[in-house]
Amino acid sequence: MTGLKTYSSPIGKELSCKSWETEALLRLLMNSLDPRVAENNQQLIVYGGTGKAARNKQMLEVIIKELKQLEPDWTLLIQSGKPVASFRTFPFFPRVVSSSSMVVPSWATWKEFSRLEEKGLTMYGQATAASWAYIGVQGVLQATFETMSEVAIRNFGGSLKGKIVLTSGLGGMGSAQPLSVTMNGGVAIVVEIDEKKIKRRLLNNYCDILVHSIDEALSLAEEAAKHDRPLAIALLGNAADVYSELIGRGVTPDVVTDQTAAHDLLHGYIPSGVTLDQAQFLRHKKPEKYVELASKTIVTHVQAMNAFKERGAVVFDYGNNIRGQALKAGYQEAFQFPGFISEYLRPLYCEGRGPCRWIALSGDPSDIYKIDEVILSEFRSDERICRWIRYVQDKIYFYGLPARTCWLNYKERDQLGEIINHMVASGQLSAPIAITRDHSEGSTMAAPTRETEGMMDGSDAVADWPILTGLLNTCAGASMVSIQHGGGVGIGNSIHSGMTAVADGSIEAFEKLKRLLKIDPGLNIIRHADAGYPTAKKMLETYGINKPL
Ligand code: NAD
Repeated sequence: MTGLKTYSSPIGKELSCKSWETEALLRLLMNSLDPRVAENNQQLIVYGGTGKAARNKQMLEVIIKELKQLEPDWTLLIQSGKPVASFRTFPFFPRVVSSSSMVVPSWATWKEFSRLEEKGLTMYGQATAASWAYIGVQGVLQATFETMSEVAIRNFGGSLKGKIVLTSGLGGMGSAQPLSVTMNGGVAIVVEIDEKKIKRRLLNNYCDILVHSIDEALSLAEEAAKHDRPLAIALLGNAADVYSELIGRGVTPDVVTDQTAAHDLLHGYIPSGVTLDQAQFLRHKKPEKYVELASKTIVTHVQAMNAFKERGAVVFDYGNNIRGQALKAGYQEAFQFPGFISEYLRPLYCEGRGPCRWIALSGDPSDIYKIDEVILSEFRSDERICRWIRYVQDKIYFYGLPARTCWLNYKERDQLGEIINHMVASGQLSAPIAITRDHSEGSTMAAPTRETEGMMDGSDAVADWPILTGLLNTCAGASMVSIQHGGGVGIGNSIHSGMTAVADGSIEAFEKLKRLLKIDPGLNIIRHADAGYPTAKKMLETYGINKPL
């Protein structure tokens, strides 16, 4: 019986695999499915609508068994969450390579994908779900924090104090929003249709209070904003209904966005007038009707966002393709407001900064705190990094394997790898550390309505870069490399790749990290320099990166 079995990562120094590289991948996989980390561990759904870590429980058990017996010079192949083969390769090459949700371009529609998934032939891998790098809401917290900081800098003199941010969705990624708003001093009203999700976020301190009516939400928000007091309010309701109601009442928040899982109409977005139980029923019995209702609601939702913009609110798409879905449903004015990456994060990509994360395989939080201290000392001249580390030390508590994320540049990532490997080798840390990253970077994700929206040279849909990144990561010593399709924006809308490395303190790990950790930020700079961004071109010179043309 595997029915109600739950998973969580082994901790401590003892190996259940034949090398730390494989042990790290096993621990990351099991950590992503830990009930405290995953959104729906029983269905192996990690986050982002239906983003899964393995095709089904039987295949998950086989993956675990295969990892446990994998020799240090063998490589396991995962095809959309299914272990399909292992081959003898080389110790320097990855222990796991995976490809998820890939469909031949002309067949890349939700309809065909759902047919294949229904037949058990594929699975939706989101971004960090299928690459086993998901670490809970904290994984996207810094990107969300940086976005809200940029919103504050560009529009409100550097702080969200006294400002009200309206958004929705308290799922695996969306929950980073309320905390990021309050960390920037503001007041968040987050609309969420599922009370269970709200309660989970209250428990983790990502939200402060649950309310059941718009009146209550507005009165609390206005009072807090009047006194410059940060507050995160979760409002139970349907986002499209609430946004339209606010438009009708003449209320204009300062900032408006949305993080329902709108990329997936059938599983990620609840239509207006439909309860959660009805949604469950309709999805199975009348999927086409469900999609029709969801599309209609999304049009209303985006119309309201446009109306907020016309009234002067700062409005942006938060990476869930809500504008694309509204356009597909026939709303021609859907792209009146920008995406968060082209508007706020691209300048960081041009500098070669990207979302790096490290995870203590020991399970011991003090390993992360010790690395924090070294970062605060070694990177003391970078105020952005130090401010972030101090913030999270103060506000975030760990669940699942202790982990940290930090946006680091070309030089810093390389330095970090060396520092961490040395700390493991010298016994300062109690076990090895896994180093990985989000898929969301300029070179590692091609997504024309997100990471590559509005590229300077018009290369938005060019998808060679994430593939080149994955291939090069494979050559340079990554322990796991994954190539994926769909991610945060859905089938047909993105191609991306992920990588994980392991700092086990060995000379081999040192050599691997020295090569590997330059690749993602380096290619990020090259991708943007190639597209003509002046900052990226300057970075090529600053770091002496070789770009032949
Ligand atoms: P999730 O599936 O874990 O959560 C989505 C939440 O939206 C659920 O709690 C659901 O109940 C709620 N919801 C759905 N329809 C609603 C409605 N009409 N009104 C109110 N609430 C509703 O997804 P997630 O991991 O939080 O990701 C959210 C979206 O952001 C996805 O589309 C994802 O692909 C995208 N995404 C964004 C980023 C980013 O950095 N911004 C990164 C990855 C993914």
